[in-house]
Amino acid sequence: MSEKRVRHVLGLSGGKDSTALAILLHQEIPDMEYFFCDTHKELPETYEYLDRIKARLGIKINYLSEKRGFDHWLALHDGLLPSPQMRWCTIKMKIKPFEEFVGNDEAISYIGIRADENRDGYMSTKPNLKPVFPFKERGLVKADIIRLLEDSGIGLPDYYRWRSRSGCFFCFFQRKYEWVMLAQEHPDLFAQAIEYEQNHADGRTYTWTQGETLQELLARKDEIIANHNKAMKKTEKAAPNRPLSEALESVLDDEDDGLPCLACHL
Ligand code: SF4
Repeated sequence: MSEKRVRHVLGLSGGKDSTALAILLHQEIPDMEYFFCDTHKELPETYEYLDRIKARLGIKINYLSEKRGFDHWLALHDGLLPSPQMRWCTIKMKIKPFEEFVGNDEAISYIGIRADENRDGYMSTKPNLKPVFPFKERGLVKADIIRLLEDSGIGLPDYYRWRSRSGCFFCFFQRKYEWVMLAQEHPDLFAQAIEYEQNHADGRTYTWTQGETLQELLARKDEIIANHNKAMKKTEKAAPNRPLSEALESVLDDEDDGLPCLACHL
């Protein structure tokens, strides 16, 4: 009897680490299946970045949950918006589509957590899925990831100028400065995020970001930008030769008050 084929799967989030993992492995594992869980609420820069990855590496990306995006699941949750405490979005739009994609097949899931990170990614409890961590196994740290991206010609996604994580444009794990920049870079998306806030079905005031509505946050825009610039200057002074994107990431991580969504932001 012939042995059952083991599938190799790699989830792209539109972020730098999962992209670098695809660069590292696409020749080593030619039958790798790449997938992206599309919430239909991603940044335009993310879709553009995925196109860049496909073109450079010559790979196919499976876009999962193509028909059922965020609004479908929001309606099924009676209009209750997700939050760090009620993260139905990650389960319905990132984890379930992935598990359906793999089904009951034996599969190895490649995860882009780096050797210099102390965090766990989503581990499926499905017994047919085996997670592996090639960066950790090979001792690859952030500088190696940046090198892989640069050498491949793919580089960083364009949103790295102002935001350090992939995911939905209204993600509640976003930092205050990133909201201000969303308003500047994509006023239409910022307006949509306000609309979701104002039409929350719960009856209580819902805010994407802690302690204030998006309109209140935007009214404090100058203060938020000034604080951010101050923190950037401090970080540049401490590590003068660091690329801007890394300084931005470090400053944003310092002001972070919540754990990011690992299923969305790798
Ligand atoms: S990116 Fe944020 S909002 Fe989107 S599915 Fe992940 S946790 Fe939810």
